[in-house]
Amino acid sequence: MRIIDMSQPLFDGCPNCPEHPPVKSEILFDHDTVGWRLERITCANHTASHVDAPLHKIAGGASLDDIPLEKWVGPAVIADLRPCVVDQRFGPADLSPRLVGDLRDKIVLLCTGWGEKRAKTDEWLNHAPMVGAEGARWLVERGVRGVGIDYYSIGDATVHEILLSKGVWIVEELSFPAEVLALPQPIEFWSLPVNFRGHTGAFCRPVAVVR
Ligand SMILES: [Zn+2]
Repeated sequence: MRIIDMSQPLFDGCPNCPEHPPVKSEILFDHDTVGWRLERITCANHTASHVDAPLHKIAGGASLDDIPLEKWVGPAVIADLRPCVVDQRFGPADLSPRLVGDLRDKIVLLCTGWGEKRAKTDEWLNHAPMVGAEGARWLVERGVRGVGIDYYSIGDATVHEILLSKGVWIVEELSFPAEVLALPQPIEFWSLPVNFRGHTGAFCRPVAVVR
């Protein structure tokens, strides 16, 4: 078995959603003083690779605890949307040619190329391609289980609402190494979130498993 990392790292000052607090990681204790090293991390739980549960957008919606672990593991199809342009919003015309076949209960992962641009630039922070409302409805109508993207947000508030109100979970800040893009599809995808009780989302380690 081989495991291919599809995550984006969390580190001090790492790029993140500018509406969230800046990411801070500081050494709290160190070996030469107390004999241990330990870091204190300050950031939103929606930082670096993470999942969104319905509660993130839907009041009274499912939190992480309400989602069986099996849901975060399963067959995923990758839509390679590159090359994308700034501020692009994916609609059915972008998605349907790249997502042929039955998508029911599948995880759909969108490769925009923005994962490779991850930096605090105006382009990355403010002009990323994302899913548009029509695209989100198209995905929901096909009965997908989850949707992922190589960016800190899948789309705007409406897009989150369309997906999460139908119980379609989201995984954000993926990376797509070339070896993942070369795998036969569907790939075996895992994105188990950290066990934050009652939370709207959590850090996860998205991976492709090759058996
Ligand atoms: Zn999120």
